[in-house]
Amino acid sequence: MNFYILTLFPEMVMNGLNTSIIGRAVEAGFLHIEAINIRDYSTNKHHKVDDYPYGGGAGMLMQAQPVYDAWKSVVERIGKKPRCIYVTPQGSTFSQGAAKEFAREEDIILLCGHYEGIDERVLEEIVTDYMSIGDYVLTGGELPAMVMVDAISRMVPGVLTNDESGSMESFEGNLLEYPQYSRPEEWNGKKVPQVLMSGHHKKIEEWRRQQSIKRTLERRPDLLEKAELTEKEKKDLQYIAGCGKISICETRK
Ligand code: SAM
Repeated sequence: MNFYILTLFPEMVMNGLNTSIIGRAVEAGFLHIEAINIRDYSTNKHHKVDDYPYGGGAGMLMQAQPVYDAWKSVVERIGKKPRCIYVTPQGSTFSQGAAKEFAREEDIILLCGHYEGIDERVLEEIVTDYMSIGDYVLTGGELPAMVMVDAISRMVPGVLTNDESGSMESFEGNLLEYPQYSRPEEWNGKKVPQVLMSGHHKKIEEWRRQQSIKRTLERRPDLLEKAELTEKEKKDLQYIAGCGKISICETRK
């Protein structure tokens, strides 16, 4: 999969994405990540890329021309117009589901804003998706673009090894992942739950499923509405909610 990131800070993006699992996937050829410096496309003799907004107001806006020409350079080079995501607090909230959907694309352009944002006219011309990473305002789109590239890349076949791609991760089936433990068996007076050392795979699976539902109920009850639960699990949840208990281990038989 190929990512083309249009930004005023290419080093920031590339330094962040060239390490660990994503860096390894780039080296192995599963991913191609390229940052395109919007400033290189400024026709202004001082390479200026921003100006005051018409109508007044605080801050500067990125101008349409360098953004458009940076986008056009990618489109002409690869010979197609891929989806172009503008990362913006005004977009729909990025999610694991969105990451999976974007991972089906062969090429993606990500556009990072800075200052007070970007001239609306170029957005109308090139953007296909408006995505936010949450309801807060950052100084630039570089961190959101890196977050999105990381999450999307994990969904690209070959990027994660078998060891890394756990069979059940948070948000699979709209549940959070169960708690996990490693050596030693006892740390700081806390023991690893006995069932995990029983070697009984079915019991371990059941325990993890229960813990997953319990954790989702405690931390993200909003997810449970769309969670894929069995009829028994739904009944257990209603019981827990009804009697105010929060431990799914205490459910009726
Ligand atoms: N004036 C804009 C507004 O109120 O919507 C905010 C501009 S923000 C200071 C500068 C840039 O940071 C944006 O153009 C966008 O690319 C990026 N950005 C800031 N917060 C973001 C968020 N929550 N999600 C995605 N991108 C964000």
